[in-house]
Amino acid sequence: MKKINFLFAATAIVASVTFVSCEKDQVNSPTEETSLEVEKDVLNKITALHFNPNGVEKVMVSDIDGTKKAAYLIEGDVLLSKSQIMDMGLHGGIQNKQYRTNNLVTATNVIRVVGYTGNNQYGLSSTAQTGLQYAVNNYNNENLSIRFVLSFGTSWGANDILVYVDNSINTDPNRSAGIAGFPSNGYPFTRVRINNGANLTQTNQQLEHLLAHEIGHCVGFRHTDWDTRKTCNENSNEGVGNDGLVYIPGTAGPGGDANSIMNACYPANTDGEWSNLDRVALNYLY
Ligand SMILES: [Zn+2]
Repeated sequence: MKKINFLFAATAIVASVTFVSCEKDQVNSPTEETSLEVEKDVLNKITALHFNPNGVEKVMVSDIDGTKKAAYLIEGDVLLSKSQIMDMGLHGGIQNKQYRTNNLVTATNVIRVVGYTGNNQYGLSSTAQTGLQYAVNNYNNENLSIRFVLSFGTSWGANDILVYVDNSINTDPNRSAGIAGFPSNGYPFTRVRINNGANLTQTNQQLEHLLAHEIGHCVGFRHTDWDTRKTCNENSNEGVGNDGLVYIPGTAGPGGDANSIMNACYPANTDGEWSNLDRVALNYLY
């Protein structure tokens, strides 16, 4: 079965990938951007946080105004700034296979999502817009304590999740179809970037899956198969420390959930819908 990777591992469908970037307040200094080697202090902190240091990469990502910034990519499609990494308390490292309790959306009940439709390189295709609509509908259909309000256009607010095409890093065919990040200060991560290969070639069902997955990171979910990444045909561990593991009641646990939207990779024939256990997890968290 063909697998689609949010990040590493690679797949036929992902013709090009885009690395995405961090927010303005996460920008590193220009001198740090000259090298894409992960600094030793970052690696040490990553290790202390129980992330897998072998899975960390420094990447350049593009913001929608064209500026490029360095950020750190963990678990294939989750961006962290250097300050986020260095300021992260050890007690607040990985707390859960699907989320980190100190990184949930708590400051608002309404999450605005803007699908960027500018007539330029950042604009979503009509298929991607349909996929985004489906993805947001899937969240709202669960009647969660957080409500998503979707609009399309070229303007957005400071705490909105902006969804757009970013091809700032597109030379590696094994790269992510989409990238997002974790919440901070009680607000969701505000950027979901997809590459133009996904934007132009994936079906609306695949894009529904991809965008529901990336929005899942924005509100605090980690990968369901963090312990194996077996959906990417890998046998690696994203590095969750057992000391911080909190099991979500009713979910699959270490046995995994082959149908989870939050698995690290997804099958080409996905229907983009939640698994039953995704619903359990969503309703538990929100
Ligand atoms: Zn992911």
